[in-house]
Amino acid sequence: MKFRPESTAPSDAAARRAVKPVICYPNETLPVFDPSLYTDAKSDLTLVESIIVPPRDAKTFSVPAGHFFRISYLDGPQVGDLNLWNANDINERFFSGKTRALHGTHVSTGDRLWSNLPHMRPMATITHDTLNWYGWDEYGGGVHDVIGTRCDPYTHAVLQGDDYHYCCHSNLTRALAAEKNLPLKEAEIYVHDVLNVFMCTGFTKDTHQYFMKTSPVREGDYLEFFAEIDLLGALSACPGGDCGSSHSSENAKCYPLNVEIFKPKAGEPAGWKSPEKSGYSGTHGVRKK
Ligand SMILES: [Zn+2]
Repeated sequence: MKFRPESTAPSDAAARRAVKPVICYPNETLPVFDPSLYTDAKSDLTLVESIIVPPRDAKTFSVPAGHFFRISYLDGPQVGDLNLWNANDINERFFSGKTRALHGTHVSTGDRLWSNLPHMRPMATITHDTLNWYGWDEYGGGVHDVIGTRCDPYTHAVLQGDDYHYCCHSNLTRALAAEKNLPLKEAEIYVHDVLNVFMCTGFTKDTHQYFMKTSPVREGDYLEFFAEIDLLGALSACPGGDCGSSHSSENAKCYPLNVEIFKPKAGEPAGWKSPEKSGYSGTHGVRKK
């Protein structure tokens, strides 16, 4: 029990609790998602590349700015952990925390995947989500979360006391090391908190703990993105499989995932421009002398 009766409630406790919340980051000033911008571009797509991600492993893939990519169901229900980097500078990478703060705990069509500070710009836009119908279930669960960080061997060692080598963190590390020809220890530093594709998660109502439940993903389902900048991606087929029981072990049944890269035949969407990095001056209040 986190909240032990070690402090006495003040006489105005009820009034303090009753204060209405305000949204931390009202997002009405963000660039508006205009589906029609992508409609023409999506009407005629050429499949450039298809990458199969084997179970309990990860693969990298490249998507030029102005192209689309889809992560699809293949042979069975499977959750994927996604990392994204600027293909030209992997110091710029997906910032799941700020994406969560701006768009909420789970993402879907119209949401942007933002990059880390000091870059802070949309790296990709979600342009189609076949699981968009799911919404919020009776447990407060939703699909495609940006809260779950990624399964990793360090947390597993703390909780279980043994080594497991095929957590998403390790899968992503091996894939990035191979792609960039980096030592594992160096590649590991660039691996970051993920977008949990197809994963169904939330926070329990009583203890507010992170929960997972069997993914609703079925044959024909996919999540589609538009690359706002040149992207290097890595996708891990999580050892949790559909994440209905356990992860970070060999116990769950796992399946491959498919990543497809598409080029719009008509070229970039009319009126679209790759976003610039943040316009903040970067002086942090220090005045020039
Ligand atoms: Zn995982």
